[in-house]
Amino acid sequence: MTGALADLPPLRESLEAHGLLARKSFGQHFLLDLNITRKIVRLGTLPEGATVIEVGPGPGGLTRALLEAGLKVIAVEKDARFLPLLGELAEASEGRLTVVEADATRVDEAKLAGGAHHIVSNLPYNVGTPLLIGWLTAAEPPLSMTLMFQKEVAERIVADVGDDAYGRLAVVAQAVCSARIVMDLPARAFTPPPKVASAVVRLEPLPVRPEPALLKALERVTAAAFGQRRKMLRSSLKALGGGALCEAAGIDPDARAETIDVAGFLELARALRA
Ligand code: SAM
Repeated sequence: MTGALADLPPLRESLEAHGLLARKSFGQHFLLDLNITRKIVRLGTLPEGATVIEVGPGPGGLTRALLEAGLKVIAVEKDARFLPLLGELAEASEGRLTVVEADATRVDEAKLAGGAHHIVSNLPYNVGTPLLIGWLTAAEPPLSMTLMFQKEVAERIVADVGDDAYGRLAVVAQAVCSARIVMDLPARAFTPPPKVASAVVRLEPLPVRPEPALLKALERVTAAAFGQRRKMLRSSLKALGGGALCEAAGIDPDARAETIDVAGFLELARALRA
């Protein structure tokens, strides 16, 4: 660890020194154990010197671990109360940390990073899924994403066809990325503890990516099919062409959404575009 970073007080002391308490409305559940944040960074397998966008640094536990690993960090935090504490971390990082006060749902990460970037975050749960969808479908998607979600959301991202958790999120995520759970964390690992367990998902773009128009069509098809997941596709996809669309895609119109794999949904999306 570099000198100035090693000299920082423990995270709990930093929070106390700045009189900071977690706010529920901002989805604040902090990781104050650096052994855990260092492990998350290791699981991210990020090349030294790479640029990482971190959403919601809060007291900076994950940020410290990213900086220790030699990464360049751009941290986007909505809660201005954390800026003085993060300023101390920026000072200790010798120019490798930039803190931006902003709402991450309104930020274009690729623009902020000025090009190729990775995303690492212990996400605020209330905006985790919309943020992920935005990154998956972005014109310049991240090189990798290492993201903490509620366990139930993590399971929906990595689910296989036939799993109870299989749905729209799995199809859209796995059409563009490989996705796996790399770490489970119990609620007690956080301060304050949330009501549910959490898990870290690592996502990496597939070598071949569907073009933006196909992704848009995929979003429409999956929204309709899983919007009425117990119905046959000929009926749930009625507004998009129903049985004729299925036949054009080579998919059984009597099948239900939960039995169609990602490749099948991509065929439906291609047929919709055609
Ligand atoms: N990274 C810290 C950690 O692991 O201890 C904090 C994680 S906490 C689960 C989520 C963080 O995201 C909080 O710092 C919260 O203020 C911030 N946050 C919530 N909504 C946000 C938004 N829309 N844009 C940016 N940051 C947000």
